[in-house]
Parts: sequence; C-alpha cells; structure tokens
Amino acid sequence: MQRVAFLGLGTMGAAMAANLARAGFPVAAWNRTPDRAPELQELGVTTASSPADAASNAEIVVICVSDTPDVEAVLFGPDGVVEGAKPGTLIVDCSTIAPSGSWDFAARLRERDLRMVDAPVSGGSEGARNATLTIFVGGAERDVEHARPVLNALGRTITHVGPIGAGQAVKAVNQVILAGTYLGVAEGIVLAIKAGLDVEQVAEALGGGAAQSWVLANRAGRMIDNEYPLGFKVALHRKDLTIALELAAQLGAALPVSALAAQLESGLIAQGHADDDMSALARAIRGLSGLDD
Ligand code: NAP
Repeated sequence: MQRVAFLGLGTMGAAMAANLARAGFPVAAWNRTPDRAPELQELGVTTASSPADAASNAEIVVICVSDTPDVEAVLFGPDGVVEGAKPGTLIVDCSTIAPSGSWDFAARLRERDLRMVDAPVSGGSEGARNATLTIFVGGAERDVEHARPVLNALGRTITHVGPIGAGQAVKAVNQVILAGTYLGVAEGIVLAIKAGLDVEQVAEALGGGAAQSWVLANRAGRMIDNEYPLGFKVALHRKDLTIALELAAQLGAALPVSALAAQLESGLIAQGHADDDMSALARAIRGLSGLDD
C-alpha cells in the first residue's frame, strides 16, 4: 500500500483520512489546529507535527484545506510539504481552489521534482463519510494513475478531466450549477409554504419528477425547518463562487444566477451565518417573503 500523508482534517479531510485508513493505507495526518480529529487515532492514523513531517515518509500527500492561499501555505510555507517531501512524491490536492493556483503550484513543485494533480471533490460531507465522493482530476496521465488507488478509497466516480487545473475548472462548473439548484429549491419551498401546502409531502412528490436533485433530496428538510447544520459552509461556497465568477470574467461568460447567489451569501456572511450549511441560502429567500419575522 502507498504511504499517505493527509493534510487538513476539517469536515471533509477527517472523514477522507479515516476512509484511507480503513482501506488499509498507512496514514500520517496533520492539521493546523491540533487534536481536531481524535477519532483517527483509533484507526491507526499517526499524527505528524507539520506538513513537512507528514510528507517526509509519504509516497502520496493528500491536501484538503479551505482556499488557494491555504494550499500555498501548506505546500510552501514554514515547515511546508516541500521541506520534507522526497523527490518524486505525488501531491493530490482535494481542496477547491482557483485553477490558476493549481497551475502555479504544480509548476513550482516541478522545479523541486515533485508532482501534483488537482482532485477537487463533490458529494458533500455525506460523500466524504461514505467514500462515495465524485472526484474531478486534472494532471498528467501517469500521475493520475498513480493517485487512483487513493482516490478509489475516497470516492465512487473518479474522472480524469484534463491537464493540471482542469479538475478545478470542472469543480467551478459544479458550484455554479449548485448555486442555481439551491436557489431553485429554496424558492419552491417558500412558495409551497405560502400556498399552505404540506411541504414535506411536496418535496417527496417532486423527488419523483423532473425537479428531482441531490439538493431537493438531501437539503430540502433543512430549508423547511429553517435549521442549517453542517454540511458545507456558506463561506466556502462563497469562496467557490468567487473562483467561478473570476474565471467567467476572464473567459467572457455571464453567470447572472451565480452572481445573485454570491450576493445573497455575502449578506448571510455579514449577518453571522458564514459557518451555517450552504442550504442557509433558503434563510435569505425565506426572509424576502417575510416568513421568519
Ligand atoms: P472545513 O471543515 O472548514 O476545514 C478546513 C480545513 O482547512 C481545516 O482542517 C483547517 O484547519 C484547514 N485550513 C484552513 N486554512 C489553513 C491554512 N492556512 N493552513 C493549514 N490548514 C488550513 O472545510 P471542509 O468542509 O472540510 O472543506 C475543505 C475543502 O473541501 C474546501 O476547499 C471546500 O471548498 C472543499 N469541499 C467541501 C465540501 C463540503 O461539503 N464540506 C464538499 C466538497 C468540497 P484548522 O482546523 O486549523 O482550521
């Protein structure tokens, strides 16, 4: 089995590191804030003192942190991966970051004889826990094949979508589609409430028709209850929409629904809801109709 270093034990990373350990990979894990995922020790995961320490004995380094500057810090900052990794080590970045970040980091790693693929994931915290993630991989064929046993332990649908950065571009598309889907489901629920319908029944009935979606199936309940436990933080989707809208601006693509979702999410963040689940977009839509006064 390939020796794996896992960096970033948040909602996604802790569950993914656990699945690698369950699949039999020897895993050394590191998180910026210590003691964040104590349950990993019972699975035989060892704790590293820094990214460099974790990488020093690994063939593959998996990263799952928040944003582009955070991946840069873990790779190139003090005690970063490059200070410990042996030549030829493969970095698998599962964070959602700007495609330009992946290009930049891969080029800088190449100068040190280190390889990288971008492998952002979709499927929510449930997908991370159940090892059913969908993974969009960008990179050289040889590197993607080298990463595949690790990715197979994390997800179900793994697609090599192009060269380095292509995985992040596909993930941006994913987040744009999600913006519209969350807003659509939230609006439908508000209309159903206003119409005096049995909203749970409506959501179930719609799930059998053309309005079905992962969001309707998995997040409508939270929108109906107006309770938004994690999940996927509003702040992280707002970050993803910045990536998508910047990419769109560079390419001359107009994304009006994503721009609207970004503004609504900025409002939620300003109101103190940054760490709510992204389904809290429904809080904004409910508020427009005076549902929760
Ligand atoms: P999270 O629970 O907020 O965890 C973020 C992780 O990143 C924590 O381990 C945090 O460490 C670490 N981190 C942040 N900045 C760092 C820095 N500068 N240096 C070192 N570590 C840093 O986020 P998450 O939900 O696991 O998401 C992780 C990534 O997966 C994000 O890019 C997100 O967009 C993506 N993603 C999330 C979901 C989801 O449903 N949650 C789904 C698909 C993709 P600390 O513990 O020290 O703060």
